[in-house]
Amino acid sequence: MKTVSDEVEQEVSTGSLPAWDRVEELARSAHARFRHDDEGAVATYIPVLAEVDPALFGVCVAEVSGAVHEVGETSYEFSVQSISKAFVYALVCEEHGHEVVRERVGVDNTGLAFNSVIAVELNDGHPMNPMVNAGALATTALMPGASFAEQWENVRTGLSRFAGRQLELDGEVYRSESATNARNKAIARLLQSYGRIDLDPLEVVDVYTRQCALRVDARDLAVMGATLADGGVNPVTGERVVSAQVCRDTLAVLASTGMYERSGEWLFEIGLPAKSGVTGGIVAIAPGKGAIGTFSPRLDPAGNSVRGRHATAYLSRALGLNIFASAAQAAATGVPDGVEHSA
Ligand code: GLU
Repeated sequence: MKTVSDEVEQEVSTGSLPAWDRVEELARSAHARFRHDDEGAVATYIPVLAEVDPALFGVCVAEVSGAVHEVGETSYEFSVQSISKAFVYALVCEEHGHEVVRERVGVDNTGLAFNSVIAVELNDGHPMNPMVNAGALATTALMPGASFAEQWENVRTGLSRFAGRQLELDGEVYRSESATNARNKAIARLLQSYGRIDLDPLEVVDVYTRQCALRVDARDLAVMGATLADGGVNPVTGERVVSAQVCRDTLAVLASTGMYERSGEWLFEIGLPAKSGVTGGIVAIAPGKGAIGTFSPRLDPAGNSVRGRHATAYLSRALGLNIFASAAQAAATGVPDGVEHSA
């Protein structure tokens, strides 16, 4: 099918962040406002996660200029978990292209929990989107590599290029999750039965479990997000990681499915494509401007970090990041003389 993208050059709308001092001031203010918010509870679904200090809170804004603003515990490392799905998806899109991945994985919301088996059954064995576990497993299975070890190495180096530094596996989280991820194994086998995974499903789960156990900090999340905001070039290292087209595809998927079953509400309140994970990280991306990385382990019932959500909402408003917000041109500049508005 011929689409408009075959015929029309992609132009981008522009806009920029406020001056460095103002971004710095607002990042500090976002941290100060919400650091005493004790709502929510830390994840306990794998035993080792329950040991984290719930008071930890880091806020980081990375600009597409390469400037990075850090407040609080921005270098505390935690396992990336579901946030890895966004970046592995980008790497797989870079490898296979828009159409192949859309067909194999899908882009639509399931309306069901991220680890739902029913969602696969309800959709004729189709995983639906790459931010739920079924779609994420199908996506990881598409990573390039002649062996599972090579696929895993490509995941690790790919995510490291987004972060601009070498990311390491958290062995304890990996082992703990490997011992308790029966449901993910079931989902992978189900996808195999529908012909959606061609490789050994348990090996795919193993690569996926490793990808979730990569250690990142809030600064990494901001820089990884800023790479998606910067047309695929890491603004800190200057390295191109993926194409601008892949960034667009990835952000569209995040907007509709990045924040578990609260993706619609998140978009309504905050207006930014974002992804969160059960360890308390959130990355929110403002295309062409930068990204916000937050970390705080207390989660709301949907699985999103409470302080991270508040801090991102605050920064989205104060920095003018909401992609749906506009002001009337006439109100800002005055309607020029002689211009007639038709009704
Ligand atoms: N590794 C987790 C799982 O597959 C990801 C959880 C999450 O961050 O949503 O269950």
